[in-house]
Amino acid sequence: MEGKGRPAILKEECTGCGACVEACPIGAIRMHDGLAQIDESCNLCGGCRDVCPSGAIRFPEEDREKQPAVAEHHHVWVFAEVRQGKLASVVPELLGAGRRLADQLGESLHAVVVTAPREEIYQQLFGYGADAVWQVEHELVFEGDEMARAAALCQLIRRERPAVVLFGATAMGRSLAPRIATRLKTGLTADCTGLEIDPETRLLRQIRPAFGGNIMAEILTKYRRPQMATVRPRVMKAPRFRPDSSGPIHHFVPAELDGGLTLEELVLEEVETVNLEDADIIVSGGRGLGDPRNFALLEELARLLGAAVGASRAAVDSGWIPYPHQVGQTGKTVAPKVYIAVGISGAIQHLVGMQSSDVIVAINKNPDAPIFKVATYGIVGDLFEVVPALIRQLKKMRGVT
Ligand SMILES: Cc1cc2nc3c(=O)[nH]c(=O)nc-3n(C[C@H](O)[C@H](O)[C@H](O)COP(=O)(O)OP(=O)(O)OC[C@H]3O[C@@H](n4cnc5c(N)ncnc54)[C@H](O)[C@@H]3O)c2cc1C
Repeated sequence: MEGKGRPAILKEECTGCGACVEACPIGAIRMHDGLAQIDESCNLCGGCRDVCPSGAIRFPEEDREKQPAVAEHHHVWVFAEVRQGKLASVVPELLGAGRRLADQLGESLHAVVVTAPREEIYQQLFGYGADAVWQVEHELVFEGDEMARAAALCQLIRRERPAVVLFGATAMGRSLAPRIATRLKTGLTADCTGLEIDPETRLLRQIRPAFGGNIMAEILTKYRRPQMATVRPRVMKAPRFRPDSSGPIHHFVPAELDGGLTLEELVLEEVETVNLEDADIIVSGGRGLGDPRNFALLEELARLLGAAVGASRAAVDSGWIPYPHQVGQTGKTVAPKVYIAVGISGAIQHLVGMQSSDVIVAINKNPDAPIFKVATYGIVGDLFEVVPALIRQLKKMRGVT
């Protein structure tokens, strides 16, 4: 048997043919005494298993006996992040997605709270679809010690065995989810843009862009539980709030927790806030603007429409507008009522950040620009003619000179 986390070579099956040595892209396999040997640099890519003619390579996940009993895990859980006493905006969105998954599985939707108990938070969780709430009770956890929070959540998850746990891809979710997944030795898919249940296998299909957004990858956690995923704010739609909903609240007091952090003071950093995620209308500019000064044109249009100003990465990388305005895979995900893309080609990395907008208006001089494939209304033309014409028309309508 090879070391922990590495594939095992079944000695009685290995014929010493060396096909795996050839196939290993990182040179992690050598022949020793006529048998293949895999060293610790193995990244579990699976290339050796695919070429082994005698099926002598066994991957850790195939050692089913050692895995937690997958069938014993039930229900969908959502981490209910609370910031400064308020439910994070991503939580209703996760509850909406979680409700759909739980219904497909015929199971329940639970929310987990790690901040101090508050009745209005519970009401919101039930109102957005939770069937039950778990309240973790521990001073260190309430104080925001992330090590203690991760340890407490691991205890609860090990005891209750949820099948799926969803986190917001916020600073808190991005810090907690990997700590928990690592301790539980389970998979975690970051920044999912789609979550579905496979009707045949009942596995969670975790869908997200990969390879720079060139493909949509579908990731499955077949042998480990829970199946964990993070979802960025504004990617999923929040369900309608039902004020009269209620349900049970379970209190969980974790066994002794070692706080890994001593929190001396919590200082909220003042950062430039561009409220793109909450804007109903966004006017976004790209490289087509040609010059940073031309963003003034978009700002004027945005003022008249009561809109926020967004940008493509090309515009941000050129230093024309600061990063908080960037929309897309490595910027913000937005879903306004109206998104106006001006001089933006519509690269996949931009589209993943704005394609769930209700109405998309594209202004581009190239009729073949990919942005037109997602646009509700497309204007083929020079932005330096189209945008001033829009501004003139809006001013006329509003009686502004
Ligand atoms: C890992 C990775 C992550 C990325 N993340 C992001 C991200 O978060 N957000 C993002 O936006 N990009 C991202 N990108 C970059 C992305 O691939 C594109 O390069 C970028 O979106 C292009 O920006 P653009 O559309 O402004 O520029 P271009 O692709 O250069 O398009 C400019 C458009 O303007 C049009 N145009 C030019 N002049 C005029 C005019 N006078 N009138 C009208 N139209 C005109 C052109 O026809 C063209 O379609 C990422 C790339 C990678 C590899």
